[in-house]
Amino acid sequence: MYADNAQLQPDSWLVTAGRTSEPGSPLNVPLVPASNFIIGGKREYSRDDGTPTWEALEQLVGGLESGRSLAFASGMAAIAAVFDQLHAGASVVLPDDCYQGVAGLVTAGADRGRWSVQRLALNDTAGWIDACRCSDLVWLESPSNPLLGVADLEAICAAPRKPGAIVAVDNTFATPLNQRPLDFGATVSLQSATKFIGGHSDLLAGVATTKDEAFWHALRKSRELTGATPGTLESFLAVRGARTMALRLERAQRSAMVLAERLAVHPAVELARYPGLPSHPTHATARRVLKGFGTIISFDVHGGAARADAVCRRTGLIHHATSLGAVESTIERRAAIPGQEHLPPSLLRLSVGIEDVEDLWRDLDNALNAATT
Ligand SMILES: *Cc1c(COP(=O)(O)O)cnc(C)c1O
Repeated sequence: MYADNAQLQPDSWLVTAGRTSEPGSPLNVPLVPASNFIIGGKREYSRDDGTPTWEALEQLVGGLESGRSLAFASGMAAIAAVFDQLHAGASVVLPDDCYQGVAGLVTAGADRGRWSVQRLALNDTAGWIDACRCSDLVWLESPSNPLLGVADLEAICAAPRKPGAIVAVDNTFATPLNQRPLDFGATVSLQSATKFIGGHSDLLAGVATTKDEAFWHALRKSRELTGATPGTLESFLAVRGARTMALRLERAQRSAMVLAERLAVHPAVELARYPGLPSHPTHATARRVLKGFGTIISFDVHGGAARADAVCRRTGLIHHATSLGAVESTIERRAAIPGQEHLPPSLLRLSVGIEDVEDLWRDLDNALNAATT
């Protein structure tokens, strides 16, 4: 009953996925708040069997990533379901720069003796290829949060693995429109749908996608047993948001390139990090593995934490707020977050939204100039 994505480009798929063509049924995905269903059909209880609304989100993301998806309560819930697959004493390898929630989950598990952890730099391709041979879970995040390192996923995902090893990629920053880890050979690709898929800062959701049927069933069992199920309204909103995702990403990404180039030569800026800048340490890899360079820029201002905080206070159109991937631009000093003190103290992470690029630049330039005088 669902549209077939095989013939469609991703931007068309985003608009049509999850809809039914049944005469008389609603054009949009129905919001079905249900814990239980009349016995005898394909669903009895939603925590075990899903709902039509969760399934529409799963269909949409699965088509984008070329796999089978499962929706979760949040990005972290989807990520935790992957870690839930590990046996006691497993070995995990993690990037030295990654989302702080994942680092926290891994550290907490290691402290309880659940697994051992090795950290690697994202650009250490040879190190990652070696790690595939001896680790049970190879966890990648590329581009990484917040330093925007880019891994050579093509090489790493194709490397020989320890039998049963999982290669997982947190694909949140790239989105399935810029990078498709399953095509490179990853076991599972993760999305915080809270970010670009939802795109409006009004929901929490996560999606895990895999081509491996047995792994999909194992993840679904985890979701059932831990109760990490997505909200129905959240799934509806995520689908609603995803309809415009290709347009939002295209616009914000174009603006991000312009802003990154200007930030790189701004006198108040010490260093601008953006995978699209030729000066970026992994720019060559980014050109090869990513379709687009994304909408996040991390830049360090001269004058340390105090000046960076002043910049955040002085922007107007750009909101001083955490999170990313939404229609509105947000800025935040990452080292101000507990547990993130290892980051450069004046690093500001800017998530570029869909506002007019010249309005964004005026706001940023004013804030940078005011904060430096
Ligand atoms: C936000 C984020 C997550 C966590 O997602 P939630 O939906 O907040 O649980 C994981 N990875 C990355 C890269 C993120 O940006």
